[in-house]
Amino acid sequence: MSVHEVKLCLLGDSGVGKSSIVHRFVYDSFRPAMTSTIGAAFLTKTVIVDGTTYKYQIWDTAGQEKYRALAPMYYRGAAAAIIVYDITQESSFRATKSWITELQKHASPNIVLAIAGNKLDLDDLRDVQYSTALSYADKQGTVFVETSAKSAANIPALFMEISEATHQN
Ligand code: GDP
Repeated sequence: MSVHEVKLCLLGDSGVGKSSIVHRFVYDSFRPAMTSTIGAAFLTKTVIVDGTTYKYQIWDTAGQEKYRALAPMYYRGAAAAIIVYDITQESSFRATKSWITELQKHASPNIVLAIAGNKLDLDDLRDVQYSTALSYADKQGTVFVETSAKSAANIPALFMEISEATHQN
């Protein structure tokens, strides 16, 4: 049985929930509040989608997003990338554009791109409309899901969509 290895990186402004999404996916729990993303920058997780095994190698930015330009090794060989914004922070949604540009400069041209609008549990404080983000993602040709690392909403769906899209590549 074949195993698809998928190197995945997460991009987006600091504080949008990148590490929390990874933590939820890998450990199925909400990461307790931490000061910053220091520590393991690389995790693995194996999932089976439609009978196919995907072994994810996940690279977190480990706080390097503050410097905007990340190390080329971060993008090298990445099969998929999740660009995360916070649905309660319009500025983090606007910033997705420059994260996409950054990827286009450094990553493989056939990388699978997903946009995740995180903190869906804070719907009452929403600052970015679902329809706005969906039409933007459609234009960019990316997968789009609203997620909550806190409640786990749509985290499995996000990774299922990415798995299927990398398989088609
Ligand atoms: P990163 O800098 O993008 O890696 O963001 P973190 O994962 O460190 O999360 C930043 C802050 O947002 C932390 O206080 C998290 O607990 C919080 N957070 C992350 N995801 C969610 C979520 O889905 N809902 C809520 N309410 N808070 C979240």
